[in-house]
Amino acid sequence: MLIIRNVRCLTFAVGLKARPDAKGERRLSQNCSSVQMTVHFAGGSVASGAPTVTYRFSENIMRFLLNVLLVTASLIAMPLVKSAQLLAAQQPAAQEPAAQEPAAQSPAAQPRAAQQPTTESQVVDKIVTREQEEMRLIRQFSPLVETYVQNFRENKHLGAVPDGDKYLLGRADFSRGVEVVSLNDTQSKNKNFLGSMGNFFAFGKQYVPAGFLQMVFIDSDGFNQGNYKFTYVRREFLGEVRCLVFDLTPLPKTGKGRFVGRIWVEDQDYSIVRFNGSFGPASLTSYYFSFDSWRVNTGKKQWLPAFIYSQQGDFQDAQTKSMAFKPFKAQTRLWGYAPGGVGEEQELTKLLVETPVKDQAEKADDYSPLLAERSWARQAEDNVMDSMERLGLMAPYGDVDKVLETVVNNLEVTNDLDIQPEVRCRVLMTSTLESFTIGHTIVLSRGLIDVLPDEASLAAIIAHEFGHVLLGHHMDTQFGFFNHLRFDEKETFSHFGFGSTHEEEQAANRKGAELLSKSPYKDQTGTARLFLQALKDRSKDIPNLISPHLGDRVPTNWAIASESSAQPSAEKPAANVIAALPLGGRVKIEPWSGRLQMLKSKPVSAVAEYEKIPFEITPFVLFLTRQGDSSSTEVVGAASAKSDANTRP
Ligand SMILES: [Zn+2]
Repeated sequence: MLIIRNVRCLTFAVGLKARPDAKGERRLSQNCSSVQMTVHFAGGSVASGAPTVTYRFSENIMRFLLNVLLVTASLIAMPLVKSAQLLAAQQPAAQEPAAQEPAAQSPAAQPRAAQQPTTESQVVDKIVTREQEEMRLIRQFSPLVETYVQNFRENKHLGAVPDGDKYLLGRADFSRGVEVVSLNDTQSKNKNFLGSMGNFFAFGKQYVPAGFLQMVFIDSDGFNQGNYKFTYVRREFLGEVRCLVFDLTPLPKTGKGRFVGRIWVEDQDYSIVRFNGSFGPASLTSYYFSFDSWRVNTGKKQWLPAFIYSQQGDFQDAQTKSMAFKPFKAQTRLWGYAPGGVGEEQELTKLLVETPVKDQAEKADDYSPLLAERSWARQAEDNVMDSMERLGLMAPYGDVDKVLETVVNNLEVTNDLDIQPEVRCRVLMTSTLESFTIGHTIVLSRGLIDVLPDEASLAAIIAHEFGHVLLGHHMDTQFGFFNHLRFDEKETFSHFGFGSTHEEEQAANRKGAELLSKSPYKDQTGTARLFLQALKDRSKDIPNLISPHLGDRVPTNWAIASESSAQPSAEKPAANVIAALPLGGRVKIEPWSGRLQMLKSKPVSAVAEYEKIPFEITPFVLFLTRQGDSSSTEVVGAASAKSDANTRP
């Protein structure tokens, strides 16, 4: 919701592509209909200077909204209801694994038990039916899909180390089978890197995005009892979700490409939540990768593909040596399932629950040229952020942004700075290590936040970006015009570009070092230096991970020590210090809305040398939960299964 000073306006995007009809035109003309409405702005404050203010709702308001939503659910379209479920799920109560309650106390458990299948073949029937429904559900969506592949080679001291990589980002189209529209492979600015990869790139052509995406389905045209033998293994918990585990074996003469491996089926609706294995059988001409595919619950009976780890080959394995390609590991992430972005739905919700009230007209006047200039720049920033959030490339504002803004605040306070408009932080969803600044908005990629070893190294990266802000480095204010935000999704990376010049980078390094030297982080810059050194050492093995798509690469040549040299103790780090974390070490993606959360498990501090896996790909082990469903059935299920095998893999 924008506030153009005191007149609150409802903004609708109007464009030939989005709404070609005359209706849209009418809406535009009603755009600033000066409808007077009141809101209790518990979360945001009406900043007097800024013409456009984005309000963030407090939790109470969210709860209130949710209630209204539930009451009016029948009037609202499906996606909105899904969003309501999501909101419900975000209440803290849903997060508690309540396994300590006594079993069989809850009446709610009784009716459910009556419908439960009693024989193994009834269970298998349920699983097959449910998976057919699940496939129909998945086919309605087109999430973003990102695959990052690392080849590896043997290192005598460290075990497997990265040896070349490949990065794929695209929009999945499940309605037409398994297809991906690539967003990053059409770029001329990446040419240098592809060229320098030489040998690897020739093999890299085998890694088609659709190949990895195939692993979201177990068997898209024959998942049934006629093609597979199901063998019950045991019960097992994945996080707080109790599962039945089955081994699947294709029956003889059922054709190629059938799944061989293990499936985990949650025991309320019999949805498959994880499958681990391969398509087979392999032959000399066709080779299938092993994979571990996870689905995440995003609402009632809605388990969507979210994370896939795949791997093939090992340098000690004789068979690998005869393969046509180097051994590799790959992570695939899917997110952005919510159609059109969750944020927009909340805006509309807000519109529906607001009631008309009085105007606040005391401060009414046009802006001075300077204020107008500032507010125009802010508008351009907001437009870029909104546009990228809608594409699923920018995370909705949330917890991780607040963590970054705390660091910004620490730098501001200790350097005695008061920046207007305030400096904000956002997170780019990609795994590539990059950062940039647009106006007063600092953007770090999720991948970069993931691998940073500690807060001080995060502060160093932010201090560099803050340097860009303070030096007033160029930003494209054309994005203040809304027509500049209309482009084909495939063109995203060529349409937007926020990279800095070499001179700007050097200046930002100097300014950043100055900020750090007066900050609370001034005695801890040792880890930041270690991080930059580690990244520099590895950079030739992970060229695609460090290639930015929108911003700047991490400034590995930045000598932070030269400016803040008052900390001799930080020069010699302890032997067990980790210079950088593996990919996915910190931030968790919620696949429906694209929201980000800091992982609760703290990074392990002391590890063996071979366990230090900076910038490397590791398997996923998820703590599965059910969204919006902390009901007693779950409690009973969890408690009664206490004696079962609940070991995690
Ligand atoms: Zn920079």
